[in-house]
Amino acid sequence: MFSYAIGVDLGGTNLRIAAVDEYGMLLSKTALETEVSRGREHVIRELCQATKEIAQRMQDKHRGDATLCGIGIGVPGLIDIESGHLVESPNLPGWSDYDVKGDIEGRLGTPVIMENDANAAALGEQWLGAGRNSESMCMITLGTGVGGGLVLNGKIWHGWNGMAGELGHCNVEPDGHPCNCGSHGCIEQYASATAIVRMARETLASGAASEMHKLAAEPEFNSRVVYECAMRGDEVARKVFERVGRCLGLLIGNMVNALNLPLYVLGGGVSSAWDAFSPALFDEVRRRSFLYAATTPLDRSSILVEHHSTFITRALLGGDGGLYGAARLPLLHQAMTSKV
Ligand SMILES: [Zn+2]
Repeated sequence: MFSYAIGVDLGGTNLRIAAVDEYGMLLSKTALETEVSRGREHVIRELCQATKEIAQRMQDKHRGDATLCGIGIGVPGLIDIESGHLVESPNLPGWSDYDVKGDIEGRLGTPVIMENDANAAALGEQWLGAGRNSESMCMITLGTGVGGGLVLNGKIWHGWNGMAGELGHCNVEPDGHPCNCGSHGCIEQYASATAIVRMARETLASGAASEMHKLAAEPEFNSRVVYECAMRGDEVARKVFERVGRCLGLLIGNMVNALNLPLYVLGGGVSSAWDAFSPALFDEVRRRSFLYAATTPLDRSSILVEHHSTFITRALLGGDGGLYGAARLPLLHQAMTSKV
């Protein structure tokens, strides 16, 4: 007899579902498109159908030896942790203030735990990825926007009402670029894929010489193109990534000073540009945080060897961190309740 959980990564474009056992072994996985335009009812019906199929597959394969302990769902948006209501989600229009947890529990007859997707990704990385030897860590996800999550002693830190970890809106430029949240100069405006393209265009508009002038006119001009130019030595592209690194260094330096966590992990699509932005990042963290300077690891790659250093590194699970983290939620809950 063994327990497993089903993790769901419900994004604005992709819906991925996986069965994972308590050791983090992937048992079954399925990927669908999230057809947001067909409405909430359609997406929830698809999600429940695919979840039932996975549970059935597990039942057939293990002949009743496998017990489903619950379903964890990571969603982009603010969640009321107590009720499981989705308070607000820009990527899932029409889902605001909806009892997603109650609805899915009613349809499947299995307990559901809802979580913000960036928090779920942080938990997944802490469980099986870059943080697997560290009980506490901070994760910063650099994608179209910037998200974050804190895992303290193996559990997500929710703050007093469930909304902690909005690191994307920490300030790095007091009078900087306006942000959707209403503030100016949030890190999201300097370290997201969207920001990289904007900063490149701003510098090009000032007339600086760059191979990007031609590329920027193409419809497929994106942050990856800017990265490739930076790696080829284009000065404008290089400067853009230097700014990304400086701003991230400023944010992480502040976090090191405030939290003294052993590990800061950078994930999301933009983190693959690590080579381009990390030198400026490390330089800036050292300048901003005497605590980091005092605990800089001798070898940045050997997380296992040094126990009293502060590590800043890349995520290891790629796009799957959120899926594993979502599955981890009911497994953790089960471990906690069985201890009582
Ligand atoms: Zn903001």
